[in-house]
Amino acid sequence: MSNQNNKINNYSIADDLINLIIFLAVAIIIGYLINNLVYSILIFLSIFIIYILYSNYIFERWVLNYKNNKSIKYHRKHQYLVSVLNKSFEEFVTIKLKFNVLEKRFKELSASMPDAVVVVDNNFVTEWFNDAAIKMLSLKDVDIGRPILHLIRNPNFTKFINSKERDAHVNFTSPLKYDVTIKSFLVPYGEDRYLLTFRDVSESDHLDNMRRDFVANVSHELKTPLTVIFGYLETISLSDNKNVDQSILDQMLKQAKRMDIMISDLLKLTKLQTTNIPEKNFSPINLKNLVNELMLACKQKSNKNKNNIKILTNDDIYIRGSYEEIYSAFLNLLLNAIMYSGKGVTIEINYFVTHSKETIFSIKDYGVGVPLDSINRLTERFYRVDKGRSREQGGTGLGLSIVKHIMNRHEGKLEVESIIGEGSNFSCVFPKSLLAMRSSKSTSDV
Ligand code: ADP
Repeated sequence: MSNQNNKINNYSIADDLINLIIFLAVAIIIGYLINNLVYSILIFLSIFIIYILYSNYIFERWVLNYKNNKSIKYHRKHQYLVSVLNKSFEEFVTIKLKFNVLEKRFKELSASMPDAVVVVDNNFVTEWFNDAAIKMLSLKDVDIGRPILHLIRNPNFTKFINSKERDAHVNFTSPLKYDVTIKSFLVPYGEDRYLLTFRDVSESDHLDNMRRDFVANVSHELKTPLTVIFGYLETISLSDNKNVDQSILDQMLKQAKRMDIMISDLLKLTKLQTTNIPEKNFSPINLKNLVNELMLACKQKSNKNKNNIKILTNDDIYIRGSYEEIYSAFLNLLLNAIMYSGKGVTIEINYFVTHSKETIFSIKDYGVGVPLDSINRLTERFYRVDKGRSREQGGTGLGLSIVKHIMNRHEGKLEVESIIGEGSNFSCVFPKSLLAMRSSKSTSDV
């Protein structure tokens, strides 16, 4: 209660009320003395109003001239307000000093960064950029307030920004130099802002191209002599030449065949990485029919391995894509499940459309599974969990790398879940844009 009173006493109205009472008392006394109460009260109230207006005017002057207000006297009744204002100002000055130090450090840091940094709002309008952005992207001060897509004109960059994919990156050719490749990252920042970083990756891009060209050239050059050797070996093997040890010849044929498959896979991978699917190769694919073909193709192997293959759906779902590539990706996953999950293992094939209209095709097995630390490495070239077993099965270690690239070319992704001893689930996720049609008892056409 006393606290409440203290607070009330702090307001200028308390002073004003006391003064009003004093003024009225004096007015009444003098009114009686001069025998004109109304006249006296009117005069004293007018003086009181002038006094209030004047003290407020003085206080207003004091506030408006806050920075050099030393000479201006304010009325005692505003003492509390003045002390609150003084305290807030001191706090403001301390915060401003801290902010200035932080801003200076941030500017020094961003200036020394080799990467260009641009802050944009949620409409991708430029708010701030560092010195590197001036050099790398030729941005100028007047560009602040302009949409970033007006400042960086490149089809890949535009597609990337419009894709609304966050925490993602894109490579594009510099708008200033055609031989400079820029990698840009988009990271959400604060509540409604994005941080765009731009890095010159020309060197690593160049090395990457050289590596890809080297693999492609070597594979290409090896293919012809190997075909010749393979041909001769087959001829010798088929002839009745008793001078040659048949087991040695069989080994040579087996290894030559392995090399041939490996070279074909490397060439396939290079092609997948360096080209786009021609539009004419895109056609509607009925997943139901595709599954039937997969079953036929691996019938012999699955019978031999005593697998129980279940197809969990009968829906007619059509996706758009390259039939040849998608067939090869799915067959690879199914053959892997047969070859690597173990003898007599149950395998489930399923495909369905999610709520967000993505199409998922999955091959699930209840076999040996993949160790946790290997799951992320499965799509690396030549990565094999069990090298001996993979070689024995004729695997090149390139299969899942090929599947990953096929999925990338369809703007989809390969997802792998696996628990050691329980089994693995390989899912191909196709974007909404590739869903052509679906019709089943439970679902309607799209
Ligand atoms: P490969 O061409 O040798 O078959 P992949 O790239 O297709 O190679 O597969 C890489 C490795 O992943 C295989 O060598 C195998 O060890 C492992 N793997 C793939 N699928 C499965 C599975 N369903 N169960 C267990 N291991 C698997």
